[in-house]
Amino acid sequence: MLRVLLELVAIIKTLQNGTSSMATFLSTPAQPTYQTKTAKTAHVAAFITTKPTFLPLKTWPTLTAKERLRQQLHLLSYQSGLSSIYARLKQASVATILMYHSIPTEQEAQWTAPENCISASTFEQQMRFLSQHRRVISLDKLIAHIKSGKPIERGTVVITFDDGYRNNFTVAAPILAKYNLPATIYLATSYVNAAQNQWVDTLYAALRTCSEYQLNLSDSNLLAPDFSASVQDSWNLGSWNLTDPLQREQAYDKLTDYLIEADVLERQTLLAEIDRQLAPRAYPPRLTLNWDEVRQIQRQYPKITLGIHTANHLDLSLHEDQTAQEMATSIEHMVSETGMPPTHFSFPYNRYTAKAQAQVAASQIASAVAVAEDPVVRSDTSLYALPRLSAPPSLLMLKSWTNGGFPDVSRKLFNRIWTIPY
Ligand SMILES: [Zn+2]
Repeated sequence: MLRVLLELVAIIKTLQNGTSSMATFLSTPAQPTYQTKTAKTAHVAAFITTKPTFLPLKTWPTLTAKERLRQQLHLLSYQSGLSSIYARLKQASVATILMYHSIPTEQEAQWTAPENCISASTFEQQMRFLSQHRRVISLDKLIAHIKSGKPIERGTVVITFDDGYRNNFTVAAPILAKYNLPATIYLATSYVNAAQNQWVDTLYAALRTCSEYQLNLSDSNLLAPDFSASVQDSWNLGSWNLTDPLQREQAYDKLTDYLIEADVLERQTLLAEIDRQLAPRAYPPRLTLNWDEVRQIQRQYPKITLGIHTANHLDLSLHEDQTAQEMATSIEHMVSETGMPPTHFSFPYNRYTAKAQAQVAASQIASAVAVAEDPVVRSDTSLYALPRLSAPPSLLMLKSWTNGGFPDVSRKLFNRIWTIPY
């Protein structure tokens, strides 16, 4: 009993440290380099040296006390060795596919939506741990294994990155190489073509560096007259006073929800209107890979596989009629820029329909990842809906999710699982 209590105290301490280090990481001041307003339009990096003021913007949900307690109990099941014993007794045969996005430099962290970030130091800790205590294999190897029908070895892990952040090349790839780990990077290829930042980061940066504080998006007249009636109706998004931190959070949440579901034109229109009203004082540096950097990854890091994530980062569950076009465009981009047809695909926002899934399979693609209710890969998992787990910002949680006992031991003990990495 005493050991259990000591373990619980250790976990709570770790969680507290994790929270404060995350807060420190997110509030680290920016380095004095970023793009000017004119540079953004031309996609040219012209740097100025005045540091912008960043308004704080919290984008991570706060867990309730009950959720925190459950999370701690889950971690306790790992710390106490229980889930490990369970995995051994049950001869667990599961693999975990981890989903990362951005591993930002200190400067990039100020401009990147925090829910997509794992700090470089945490990432390195996690890679060191995985290289020493887990069996990290490439996606190709995992697929071959599933096709063979043999049981998956306990502790098998696959590392993936979504979207095509520049720091996957500058920060993550050297760390992966240091530990000799394979990984797959899924590119949203139109964003790479334009070396354009992801819309979520454009939104995040605009809300943090605005010089005007009233955002009014409750007027459909702001839209072009040829927009469909359904878009006109959905435009009534609200209005916010951005001097209030809570309203900044609410604006971010509401606009993120809308932009995930928007098509390309709606997305561009909304971001242009936000930019017009907020008149940001500064713009982010380039956060997305360009093709030159993608080719350097190919040359320098043979253990990294390149996959696709559509061309325009569209929600294919809502735009399934555009799936074939998105697949054809992104495959064409990859072939013409890298000389290699892609074989792996990642559903944007992890959303898909059976029809979109069938169209992906018909595009000479060998696998597709998403997020499923059962968050681990088993021997009979569909190759076109391979489940992933969003990589947690804590080493302890990563350990507990990849030891083979997860998620079954959580289901047994608590009758549910938790995959929220907060
Ligand atoms: Zn994505």
